[in-house]
Amino acid sequence: MTTGTIETRPRLRPEVLVPTVLLHVGALFALLPSNFSWSAVGVAFVLHCITIGLGISLGFHRLASHRSLKVPRWLEYFFILCGTLAGQGAVLGWVGYHRLHHMHVDQDLDPHDSTKGFWWSHIAWLMHEVPHRENRPKYTRDVNDDRFYRFCHDYYIHLQVALGVLLYFMGGMPWVVWGIFARLFVGFHATCFVNSACHMVGYRSHDTADQSTNCWWVALLTFGEGWHNNHHAIEYSARYGWNWWEIDMVWYVIWALKKVGLATNVKARRTTAKMS
Ligand SMILES: [Zn+2]
Ligand SMILES: [Zn+2]
Repeated sequence: MTTGTIETRPRLRPEVLVPTVLLHVGALFALLPSNFSWSAVGVAFVLHCITIGLGISLGFHRLASHRSLKVPRWLEYFFILCGTLAGQGAVLGWVGYHRLHHMHVDQDLDPHDSTKGFWWSHIAWLMHEVPHRENRPKYTRDVNDDRFYRFCHDYYIHLQVALGVLLYFMGGMPWVVWGIFARLFVGFHATCFVNSACHMVGYRSHDTADQSTNCWWVALLTFGEGWHNNHHAIEYSARYGWNWWEIDMVWYVIWALKKVGLATNVKARRTTAKMS
C-alpha cells in the first residue's frame, strides 16, 4: 500500500532490492585473482572520479538539485550523463529525494531520516516505500520535461549495460568486473555514507537544526560531499569545504570552470551561523 502518510512498516521494494543484491554479488567477483589487472583497477578509478565526482557531486547534487551554479546546457547534460552512469537510480528520483531530504531533514518526511538509525539512512530506505514517493515529481518540476533528463531517467540501466559492453570489448571480464561492479559498489556506498555517517559521526562547524556532520573520510571518497554540515548550513553554496583541511575537489573543478568562463552564477558563501 502506498500513501502519503507515514507508515510504521513501509513496503519493501523488490525492484530495488534485487538489483542491489546483484550489484553486491557482482562486486565479489573482483576478489577472484583471474579478474584482477592493474588496467582494470585504473579504469574503475577513472570512472569513479568521473561518475561520482563530476556526475553525482557536481551534476546531480550541486548543479541539478541545488542550482548552485550555471553551466552551458551541453556541459550540464554531460555531467548528468556522468551521474547517470554512477548507477544510483534515475536522475529525477535522485534529485527529488534529495530536495525532500533538505526540506524535512532528520524528520519523519525525510526519505532517509537519520534518526531511524544507520542502516535505514545508509541503504534500507532505498529498499522501501518512503514518505512522499508518489509526490516526488512535484519537487522536480524544473527538469521533469527536459528531454535529456528524461532520456537519462528512462534509460539509466540501458546506459550502464552499454558501458559494460564497451568495457568488455576493450578489456574483457576484468574491466567489466572492476569498471562496472566494483566501481558501482564503492561509489554507491560512498554516496550512502553522506546520508548515514555524515549525520552521525564527525564534527559540526555549524549549529544547524539537524544532525549533519563533517566527515573527512566521506569527503575523500566523494570528492567533497563529506563536508555535509557545512552544506546543510548553507545549502545553496557550491562550495562545501571552508577550512584549509576541508579538501573539496569538486569545488576546485567549479572554481576552474568559473575561471575559464564555463561556470557562471556560482554561489559560494560561508554561513556565519557557527557553533557556540
Ligand atoms: Zn544537498
Ligand atoms: Zn543531509
